[in-house]
Amino acid sequence: MRIAIGGIQHETNTFTRLTTPLSDFLMAEGEAMLDIPPAVQDTSMQGIIEVCKEQGIEVVPTLFAQALPSGIIEREAYDVMKQGILQRLASGDGFDAVVLALHGSMYVDGIGDAEGDLLASIRRLVPQETPIVCALDLHATMTEQMVNNANAFVGYRTAPHVDKVETGRRACQLAVWAVREGVQLKTEWVSIPMLISGEQSETRVPPASELISQLVHMPGSGKVISSSIFFGFPWADVPYSCVSTLAVTAKADAAFGLEEARRLAQQIWDRRYEFVFTTETHDLGKCLDIAEAEDSKPIIIADSGDNPTAGASEDLTNVLAELLKRSTKNVLVAVIADKDSYARCLEAGRGSYVDLELGRVNPTEEKPESLSVCAYVERIGLGKGIPAAVLKIDDIRVIVTAERTDVYDPKFLADLELNPLDFKVIIVKSGYLSPEYQALTRRPMLALTPGDTNLLLEELPYRQVRRPIFPLDKDFIWSAEL
Ligand SMILES: [Zn+2]
Repeated sequence: MRIAIGGIQHETNTFTRLTTPLSDFLMAEGEAMLDIPPAVQDTSMQGIIEVCKEQGIEVVPTLFAQALPSGIIEREAYDVMKQGILQRLASGDGFDAVVLALHGSMYVDGIGDAEGDLLASIRRLVPQETPIVCALDLHATMTEQMVNNANAFVGYRTAPHVDKVETGRRACQLAVWAVREGVQLKTEWVSIPMLISGEQSETRVPPASELISQLVHMPGSGKVISSSIFFGFPWADVPYSCVSTLAVTAKADAAFGLEEARRLAQQIWDRRYEFVFTTETHDLGKCLDIAEAEDSKPIIIADSGDNPTAGASEDLTNVLAELLKRSTKNVLVAVIADKDSYARCLEAGRGSYVDLELGRVNPTEEKPESLSVCAYVERIGLGKGIPAAVLKIDDIRVIVTAERTDVYDPKFLADLELNPLDFKVIIVKSGYLSPEYQALTRRPMLALTPGDTNLLLEELPYRQVRRPIFPLDKDFIWSAEL
């Protein structure tokens, strides 16, 4: 058996002023993909490759690229990556299936629905009877174009995502099974008019946990071979925004697939008011009041409006400004991405004082001002390979980085000789905390802060999303049977 593999993964925030150039992507091409280089590590692509190797399947590797969530992808960047996949598919000697590792909420300048565009282009190259199976993120925004141009989709089942590799394995197993059994796969789906943030749909608690426990994978007693739920990505202003459900069956059993997708969709809709913040959530002032009064340490507070893992610019200094105003003691702010300020710190060197114009204070202003601070440069180093300066301003440590980065892994702090247990309060630019950060604190909190990833969806300037849509609109009737 021969299987062609490839993919592009990016979660695109259309509210941020950032755009995403090719240089933002970590990429692996051709045979190099099979060595699981950093671009492939811990992604669904790794799982796809593992299954192929284990089962002695001949692989036709094309291209795999991924970038930290950010703004709209530049057209040229997408075209280069897309051609990297298409050209290798076109020049291959034929294959029995195509298995892709995608995100599902990627947006390209001038194109919009990038996964739909990519799948349509691949479908044109590949014979109708060759299955195309995709692994997707739980926060994929499904579209008609995607469903019409692939046979099957398999989504992550955890948020925070700890089953990326496993999902790639499941997608590949499904494709291999379909080829071996000669089964033509078909996907039926339902688009639910809902916007929901990941922070309101963490999978360790109901209702998400109870919905996901009903999903199936690989043939059992029923006609549905695989089912998935996608919570969508609310920080993209697109007309097809939705939460969705889907079921994969043999082509002849598609009616059963539609029935199952509808059954799951109706449950999500009926329970829509149960999707609430699963981490303690307050405005910033209240989070800080609680943190200052708490005995245990550290108290970890997510600055959720400036969350780089959902595409925010990570340069907001409104929380730091508030900490300075309150003279909060023993705080760590991780991080503020500001290339120019980092360069000034590097130039000044360790042990010196620098005057900085840091980031942007108020993200909702047309021309946001930076925060003027005088900082002591305590350390210059690398946090997980990202150039960073540790600054001390009053009793606040601030990590300023040369580029955006997620702070999911406490190793980032360890690399900079910072021990999280030393701090009373840690502010992280994040949405829900990673399992590693959750383990560090007795009291994780989400601060409802403004920014590109504002969790108060009603405050976002949506123009394109279809209406009515929950929760922007509440008084309307919808049914999965419609
Ligand atoms: Zn996700």
